[in-house]
Amino acid sequence: MNQLMRKDVKYLYGVGPKRADLLAKELDIHSFYDLLMYFPFRYVDRSSIYHIADLQGDMPAIQLKGRFVTFNVQGEGAKRRLVALFTDGTGTIEVVWFNRVKTIAETYHTGTEYILFGKPTLFKNSYSIIHPEVDVYKPDAPPTGLLGIYNLTEKLRNRNFTSRTMQKLVTTLLESVAVRRLPETLPPSIVQRHHLMPLGEALFNIHTPTDVPSLQQAQRRLKYEELFFLQLDILKNIKGQSRKLPGLRFAHVGQLFNDFYLHHLEFPLTGAQKRVIREIRNDTGSGHQMNRLLQGDVGSGKTIVAFLSMLIALDNGYQACIMAPTEILATQHYESLSTMAQHIGVKVALLTGSTRKKAREAIHEQLRSGELQILIGTHALIEEEVKFRNLGLAVIDEQHRFGVAQRAKLWKKNVSPPHVLVMTATPIPRTLAMTVYGDLDVSVIDELPPGRKPVTTRLRYENQRQEMYHFIGTELRKGRQAYIVYPLIEESEKLDLKALEEGYEIVRETFPSYRVCYVHGRMKPAEKDHQMQLFASGQANILVATTVIEVGVNVPNASVMVIENAERFGLSQLHQLRGRVGRGADQSYCILMSKHELSKDTRHRLEVMTQTNDGFVVAEEDMKLRGPGDMEGTQQSGIAFNLRISNLATDGLIVQAARDDAQQILDADPDLTTPQGRRLDAELRTRFNRTQHWGLIS
Ligand code: ADP
Ligand code: MG
Repeated sequence: MNQLMRKDVKYLYGVGPKRADLLAKELDIHSFYDLLMYFPFRYVDRSSIYHIADLQGDMPAIQLKGRFVTFNVQGEGAKRRLVALFTDGTGTIEVVWFNRVKTIAETYHTGTEYILFGKPTLFKNSYSIIHPEVDVYKPDAPPTGLLGIYNLTEKLRNRNFTSRTMQKLVTTLLESVAVRRLPETLPPSIVQRHHLMPLGEALFNIHTPTDVPSLQQAQRRLKYEELFFLQLDILKNIKGQSRKLPGLRFAHVGQLFNDFYLHHLEFPLTGAQKRVIREIRNDTGSGHQMNRLLQGDVGSGKTIVAFLSMLIALDNGYQACIMAPTEILATQHYESLSTMAQHIGVKVALLTGSTRKKAREAIHEQLRSGELQILIGTHALIEEEVKFRNLGLAVIDEQHRFGVAQRAKLWKKNVSPPHVLVMTATPIPRTLAMTVYGDLDVSVIDELPPGRKPVTTRLRYENQRQEMYHFIGTELRKGRQAYIVYPLIEESEKLDLKALEEGYEIVRETFPSYRVCYVHGRMKPAEKDHQMQLFASGQANILVATTVIEVGVNVPNASVMVIENAERFGLSQLHQLRGRVGRGADQSYCILMSKHELSKDTRHRLEVMTQTNDGFVVAEEDMKLRGPGDMEGTQQSGIAFNLRISNLATDGLIVQAARDDAQQILDADPDLTTPQGRRLDAELRTRFNRTQHWGLIS
């Protein structure tokens, strides 16, 4: 493979310097290897020939056999086009070209028998084909069958470089490198265990498949290979780096932890919470630095896990901190954690952007002296002046708001980096997590505290608005509270704020005997806090708000969440919002208000919400709809998503198998120094051309 990588594609017969230049600029193809690894993005079946008279409904791309009857140039300027009539004896069809009108008119002739290949489109009761592929019909040519179609750019097509050109070049390449004899890259044991097609065979079939089953085998093999080397790379080079970093050793569980656990816990922990605490305990006791991602749906009880973990740090003579993305959240953490801490005499402080200078200075002082044991705050916490005496554990809540760079800053708060626990309520599918957060170990709280009733979710349309208000009224009379949330995005901020204000007025008129409060992100922080407090304390019955309330806010008495213009929200956001209710023991409701006309994807999104309460199911669906690269939290991961053939959203099983195999190999040969290991390592270098060091970010 390495040799193919060094061979410039311009030396391939049929390429030359000009085309090589185009391939490099347009498709990033520089070497024989790059071309070999440029796979078709779809396939067409050219094994049969249709009759024009039999065309019906929405047709896929098909083949027709016949002759051109006339060629006419029509239109002027940009509308100039070549229109030909084509007949096969059963009917006539229009064929249209908008580009290269002159060349085409000179190339094709009336009278010659051709095979056309293209997608017939129906317009005013008759079919036409735009830009078909055209070949002279050769009666004794073998049927071509399955053909790969390559993704090309506009520029390539304008230079007469079509998918057909690509097919020809690739066929030349496959012959010239004797593709079927290319050496295997995967260990024989893996090839056998998963019954994988040999590499050369797979590369041949991915470009020029013999038949559908061979194509499918080739795809499976190449997906496996891609994911295997990706996982091997992550485990060895990314995770392996942080593995080797020595970490603080929390040798024992001491008095604070035991005292709190035995005497002050208000509820028994769920099995999942206990398991996660055990995992954290093992990590922090191992002498290696912990980097752990804790995923748990909203309300699954991550806070208590964080608190108990911090107590382990304290028991070993270290300080701990917890960082939240907003002031409201930091304050809520402060309130609940300081109550717990009081029981066992632990000193806690809150540091945010609005902490006064005096208080701030006192905090700085007590942090340095070690008197202050737990610091809670916003990103104010990672500022330069904040210095700990000995920070042992940093907890980051709601991770997707923080980038990799911010996490790195936390590390530097201590001579040897503290253990890091990242908590997120935006669960991402396991297969994605272990790829995106390749450097993090993943813990999952997959069990809600007992007694929670799943939130009932309903999709309602504008004509059902009065019923919706009526329903809110019923809940208010039971003494419960309701959220009404409006979307607000920057691009349409003015309009959105107007809708919010109008909504607020209507709600006030509809519920004259109740108190309605009102929050949006453009308010002054003090006013925002005041309004939130009104709702949190129960003085206000209804909160009309934008998504500022999305994360973390805890008002157990609220039982209704109405989401206006629900079609404008993404799945993970809807799920987050829904998580604001259902926090008490009573039945709660989420009502998605939407307009009637919805696209297929949007309708599906909203229906997913009505069908499941499980954050992981929601996340899986979200990933299928949006693709893993668009998922929240994946962009800042530092791992490129330029996968050639596999799809993290749909190839989860392969990801898992590849991960297990890679782990097994590294367990036996951590530095890849055996003969087989060295071959794998060489392949990693070929594939990832890795020069960066990942050890210190994350
Ligand atoms: P999240 O994971 O969303 O941060 P919290 O930590 O805020 O969830 O917990 C949600 C609520 O559930 C809190 O009121 C908390 O006290 C309560 N809780 C947490 N764990 C348990 C448990 N094991 N049993 C009962 N209630 C619990
Ligand atoms: Mg939380």
